[in-house]
Amino acid sequence: MARVHNFSAGPAALPERVLRECADELLDFRGTGMSVLEMSHRSAAYQAVIDDAEATLRRLLGLDDDWAVLFLQGGATLEFAGVPLNLMRSGTAGYVVSGHFAEKAAQEGAKYGDARVLASSADERFSRIPDLGPVNEACAAGGLDYLHICQNNTIFGTMYHELPRTGDVPLVADVSSCFLGLPIDVARYGAIYAGAQKNAGPAGVTVVLVRRALVAAGPLDVCPTYLDWRLEAAKGSMYNTPNTFGIYLCGKVFRWVEEQGGLAEMERRNREKASLLYSTIDESKLFHGTAQPESRSICNVTFTTGDPALDKRFVSEAADQGLVGLGGHRLVGGMRASIYNAVRLESVEALAGLMRSFERFL
Ligand code: PMP
Repeated sequence: MARVHNFSAGPAALPERVLRECADELLDFRGTGMSVLEMSHRSAAYQAVIDDAEATLRRLLGLDDDWAVLFLQGGATLEFAGVPLNLMRSGTAGYVVSGHFAEKAAQEGAKYGDARVLASSADERFSRIPDLGPVNEACAAGGLDYLHICQNNTIFGTMYHELPRTGDVPLVADVSSCFLGLPIDVARYGAIYAGAQKNAGPAGVTVVLVRRALVAAGPLDVCPTYLDWRLEAAKGSMYNTPNTFGIYLCGKVFRWVEEQGGLAEMERRNREKASLLYSTIDESKLFHGTAQPESRSICNVTFTTGDPALDKRFVSEAADQGLVGLGGHRLVGGMRASIYNAVRLESVEALAGLMRSFERFL
């Protein structure tokens, strides 16, 4: 069996050991005579699965009981609405527009109140994180229910290397593509959410972490019951049927991360992989990076030759050699190597080698 080098942006590579464990447990999960796919979400056996996933995630991130941990559905996209519906109580929030998904979050927020764009890098084609000076000032001035950021911009290959200083304004972050890829200082945030399908598990699970105090007053009246974070916290993410198998898989990935050395070790590995790719790009006369160096992501590395036809040829030659998922997002073209936790250094070395030989034999 040949597994490819998978650079997909999500759904993305999962640790092979996790997949094997799932395969082993598929017909008979721990003596229950059925798979997790077939099991009631109200059963004791399943409760143990979701409890273990939550407990492991709390250990990884250092989350105490001030925080609620939710496993929901609808992707990060549904939470673009969940954020304002739960938190925009006085009707005004700040948004930093650093890319496509940050923009979508702001547009969704604007349906429910005054979603103020405090900074944007749209006029630089999202090649960097915008200057945060005006954002910090707006937060210091007060009057915002929260400040929303997208911490790692999957399409543009940029990430925050420093967080905005929000003072008393709760910081809310879409961390979809950097979740579990590096430690986060939870003390800085009010709420954190991520689609699982990059670093944390399969598509179909959204992890929402929120300070209980922030949702104590309940959501806006128009909030769909499903999106009510306070209610979901009270119901242990089981107001309705959750994505049972997805959460089970996430739990296995959380345990894998913990056994590998936790988030600090994930960061060390991701920085090693990213720096190998960025140095290959910087040494090349053919390829160039599309993110400005001070904003480069350690999760998604974007680059191009500048010639769409040549980019296409590179992506197709790579696929022929078992390196898949390297095409850039349809909005920007070029190449993107997503180097999430389950992508091994060996895969990134193969990519760097291919880039060098492609350039040499061009
Ligand atoms: N935010 C970010 C940073 C993303 O990368 C994505 C998807 N790639 C989304 C939001 C949208 O996520 P979903 O498809 O889970 O709704």
